[in-house]
Amino acid sequence: MNDGKMRAGFVAIIGAPNAGKSTLMNQLVGQKIAIVSPKVQTTRVNMRGIVTRENTQFIFIDTPGIYRPGSRLLDRSMVQAAHQARDDADATVLMVDAFKGFNEPVMDIIEILQSKKPKNLSLVFNKVDKMPKEKLLPLMVKAQEMELFDNVFAISATKGKGVEDILKAIEPSMPESPYLYSEDDVTDMPMRLLAAEITRERAFMMLNQELPYGLAVETVSYETEADGKLVIHQNILIEREAHKPIIVGKGGAMIKRIGEQARRNLQEMLQKKHLNLFLKVKVKANWSESSTFMQEIGLEPSKD
Ligand code: GDP
Ligand code: MG
Repeated sequence: MNDGKMRAGFVAIIGAPNAGKSTLMNQLVGQKIAIVSPKVQTTRVNMRGIVTRENTQFIFIDTPGIYRPGSRLLDRSMVQAAHQARDDADATVLMVDAFKGFNEPVMDIIEILQSKKPKNLSLVFNKVDKMPKEKLLPLMVKAQEMELFDNVFAISATKGKGVEDILKAIEPSMPESPYLYSEDDVTDMPMRLLAAEITRERAFMMLNQELPYGLAVETVSYETEADGKLVIHQNILIEREAHKPIIVGKGGAMIKRIGEQARRNLQEMLQKKHLNLFLKVKVKANWSESSTFMQEIGLEPSKD
């Protein structure tokens, strides 16, 4: 579209955990801002990714996955954040892992969308790179038959295949508006939160079992010294003392590795050579039930 009008609007990316929402967002903004992992429920807060093309600014909201939340305040708040993003958006993208198809978690979400259809709803089948075409076709047909979606796409978020088509299709649904961010911005997430996300991602990748779900990272200080060196202090929060040895590792080997990898990621992301990262492990029982902590990481605590 090229009618010369300026547009800016919000696009919520929703879906079941692990569909590839964060991967799509990173692909769209052209740089890694959201953390991605093969484990479910990596994304905890709604995060904005800003994409400016020609005369349109798309503000994508990467949301935590929608699923039937357990009893933790954290889980309920995460699911609530995803629903809120959709209610506030000018367009919504439902991401579905094509390999998994219309399974129960996806149908649960579709049911919600049917009862209250969001504006400009697109269905995006993701991960088509690991899928034969003949398996995809019936899914596309079924999606059309639902008469719920304004557009249906098949993409590979990791490869970037089909991703630009989404932008083209939703562009007309963006309201006429001046840009809401500068053209060079890719996210509005504060650096200290972004830095905490990077460390959390590294810890997620290196730790096995269910431990990472009870793990959070807070940036305690983020300061540039007189010589230009960036110094970051972070706490890795865990809920139980018994988990400490797992994160610290033998002779401190694990936390050292997490720290080294996080530092390298940060250096790359921030384009900063001189960067010191200090990590500490702290036990903070029940952080996943703490409203204050939820607000600190940018999540509105659920009231249900
Ligand atoms: P989210 O929970 O929906 O945000 O999902 P993530 O973006 O964290 O991705 C979950 C997993 O799916 C990660 O291991 C990704 O690398 C993988 N993934 C995402 N997109 C694709 C894709 O297009 N193809 C393949 N094969 N894997 C993908
Ligand atoms: Mg995610």
